[in-house]
Amino acid sequence: MTSFPAAALRVRDESLPAYNRLLQLRECALRCAPYGFRATWHHLIINARIPQRLEDDPAALMRAVDELAAARTIWQRHAAGFAAERRAAKARGQRVVPLRDRWQQHGIIGIAFCPDPLRHPRDPLPVIVGRLLDVYASGALVDGECPLCNEPLRKKICSDCGIQPRGRDGAMKLTGASRTHFLWREIWLRTPGSGFSPPMPAVLRDANRSATTAVGDDSLGTDVQ
Ligand SMILES: [Zn+2]
Repeated sequence: MTSFPAAALRVRDESLPAYNRLLQLRECALRCAPYGFRATWHHLIINARIPQRLEDDPAALMRAVDELAAARTIWQRHAAGFAAERRAAKARGQRVVPLRDRWQQHGIIGIAFCPDPLRHPRDPLPVIVGRLLDVYASGALVDGECPLCNEPLRKKICSDCGIQPRGRDGAMKLTGASRTHFLWREIWLRTPGSGFSPPMPAVLRDANRSATTAVGDDSLGTDVQ
């Protein structure tokens, strides 16, 4: 199985075909997905401005993997501290993880799970992960309130930023399977002008009008949420 660092190295390897580097970015996002895979992927597409034709902006993949790696570093620093605390607690005979700490056992994946892949916080991932860890670790998480916006939750989900603070357990089924499939297909294809892709610079928009280049591969990225 590919590790995050190995996949990130391949994303940064400009000697590889751009589409292969995109697939390696997907490997990174499968292993570091604060919002769950699909919402994290949509966040990266929008925030790093990854175009449908990757050749239009080769640096976009670098921006995306840099953002993801920075968020992962913040998580790892936190996880190392938690591991040290657990070792000390075990040495004192406290072998059961306290209820308040159990969210830390599942890693960074889904610490702010977003059931709807199009609704997630817009700030950079390192900012969001850092803020969440501060709130979660301090014990300041208020029942029924979003730790990022301080807005009341509706059906366990923040109506402002879209996160589900308690993770994916008990997630509400906001969308039917067919809608989820449609959304994911559009996110993966990054169809220009569809609302599922970053805004296209005017110069590229004009060039694309006459271009007939087909999308490299229209197979979908993954069924993972
Ligand atoms: Zn919120």
